Amino acid sequence: MTAYLNGQFLPLSEARISPLDRGFLYADGIYEVIPVYSRTPFRIDEHLRRLQSSADGIRLPNPHSNDEWRAIILRLIAETEFEDQTLYIQVTRGADIKRDPTFPKGITQTVFLFTAPLIRPTPEQRENGVATITAQDIRWGRCDLKTVALLPNVLMRQLSADAGCTETVMLRDGFLTEGSASNIFVVKDGIILAPPKDHRMLPGITYDMVLELAVRHGARHEVRPISEAELRSADELWITSSTKEVLPISTLDGQPIGHGALAGRPGPVTRQMQAWYSAFRDQVTRGADA
Ligand code: PLP
Repeated sequence: MTAYLNGQFLPLSEARISPLDRGFLYADGIYEVIPVYSRTPFRIDEHLRRLQSSADGIRLPNPHSNDEWRAIILRLIAETEFEDQTLYIQVTRGADIKRDPTFPKGITQTVFLFTAPLIRPTPEQRENGVATITAQDIRWGRCDLKTVALLPNVLMRQLSADAGCTETVMLRDGFLTEGSASNIFVVKDGIILAPPKDHRMLPGITYDMVLELAVRHGARHEVRPISEAELRSADELWITSSTKEVLPISTLDGQPIGHGALAGRPGPVTRQMQAWYSAFRDQVTRGADA
């Protein structure tokens, strides 16, 4: 597998960083994950924009211009054997010669990228939905920044793995925030509901994409706080992320989502959004203008 580290393209197994790297010592860094379809990075401009705002949020100078990032990303994609890839970017504040939390002077950022085969949800998961559980959101007050300080997300995700589920849906002060590695949408009475983007959740690229598609196709939607009661009584729920795309939720804490014949089955709004999303993605990654 090919990687890029501080100016060099090399096999992933040969990439080495210092144990004094501030990413390792303090989780002092940021990251992005870009899905690549048929060797085309999907929504690259949006991902680079979010990388910049994460960098600004932790006062980390962005080591590259967007043109430089694009050149590195495209070369890495070209040098990798898979058509569909997950491209990972991480930038940390770099490695000092001592351990001191204060920003060191005169060190350069560590820039690391690698690609892996894109693992998409299985056809069965896309068709039938996935099981989820809820948990209290115990994270810090800047969940809008995509930093590598992911221990709370790791612990949240493990809760659902232990329960045989695919994702943990988080609640803070009685309101939906997001999943451990995804955003969550609710459908009630045919209206798509999305929690507002603020410091409590990551501004997902797929979240934006879904709202864009709702606008484009005239689907009724509201961006507003969503209470736990609304989450639990939803007609439909789905997960979004760059790798999960639009993935229906079938159960929440063991309770089927939806009512009547559709209980525990993806509903019509979810199906429609999946179709719009796939059509848009295919159009863009075939090189059409969108
Ligand atoms: N929220 C969290 C906490 C995430 O880690 C992710 C993606 O990994 C998302 C939301 C979804 O973001 P995106 O659609 O940009 O992949």
